[in-house]
Amino acid sequence: MSRFAFFQGEIVPMEQAVVSVSNHTFNYGTGCFGGIRAYWNAEEQELFIFRPKDHFTRFLNSCKLLLINLPYSVEQLVDIAGQLLRREAYREDAYLRPIGYKDVGGIGVKLHDLKGQVTIWTTPIGSYVHNEERTRVMVSSWRRVPDAAIPPRGKIIGAYVNSALAKSEAILSGYDEAICLTDSGHVSEGSAANIFILRGGKWYTPPVTDDVLEGITRSTVMQLLRDVLGFEVMERSLDRSELYLADEIFFCGTGVQVASITEVDRRPVGDGNMGKVTNQLRDLYFRVVRGREPKYRSWCLPVYAGMRA
Ligand code: PMP
Repeated sequence: MSRFAFFQGEIVPMEQAVVSVSNHTFNYGTGCFGGIRAYWNAEEQELFIFRPKDHFTRFLNSCKLLLINLPYSVEQLVDIAGQLLRREAYREDAYLRPIGYKDVGGIGVKLHDLKGQVTIWTTPIGSYVHNEERTRVMVSSWRRVPDAAIPPRGKIIGAYVNSALAKSEAILSGYDEAICLTDSGHVSEGSAANIFILRGGKWYTPPVTDDVLEGITRSTVMQLLRDVLGFEVMERSLDRSELYLADEIFFCGTGVQVASITEVDRRPVGDGNMGKVTNQLRDLYFRVVRGREPKYRSWCLPVYAGMRA
């Protein structure tokens, strides 16, 4: 577990980073969060934060949706993230969790006129789903929360009850993960991951208007599939039955990274093993995030060498 957190404007020991039980976000879910990985590269003895600017840009957008005004720019948040990781002195993969919240207590559901605040904590991390090479999924009986109810393009704390319901239903039913459909029955995403399917030699992923989080990994793998592996990638609504007929399917996200889906609703995907392209993409992705692909090195921010102490 981590030793420090950024809290009330400074880096403090973890045990000092506490909010009251009367806190508005604790009571009503009126906060938002981010999830960012930092990858350890042993040869270079360096820790690289993956696409931190993109993550903090989305984080500030989530804050905007909730009328949380923070006195920090993207650049300042990236800088704070680097300071925090250096204080921890990680020499292993780590995860950063920024949270934007309402820094007030009391009763009353609303978003406006409540002081916003940000905290960031970190933790060492390994893999997220227990079976990244053979993920067995079910289509959830829970629908994805629609943008007209709570915007899924923001990482809004209260909305993650939707993800938790789907995830627990899947695990308690003997699967590894869930796929949620939109209210109108199209494929949306996993509990905390975007989804891609391969059919007839082309990759497809739901558009951002199908109640998905605008994933940073989604945009990363779209670029890698197109520019390195030479595939066409289309954003369009997907039917549930297309999952059953796909040649390959994978989840992607900061947590799951690239996880091969080998079974949907007890039907094998392709021949039931990790797909060839998914396998290639995973190898490529892991090289990219550790700073081993020169073309994409600018996505990786060195924590120890490249930033102010
Ligand atoms: N969808 C949801 C619901 C998520 O929580 C996440 C994880 N942040 C993702 C997709 C993947 O997004 P990203 O690649 O930006 O981590």
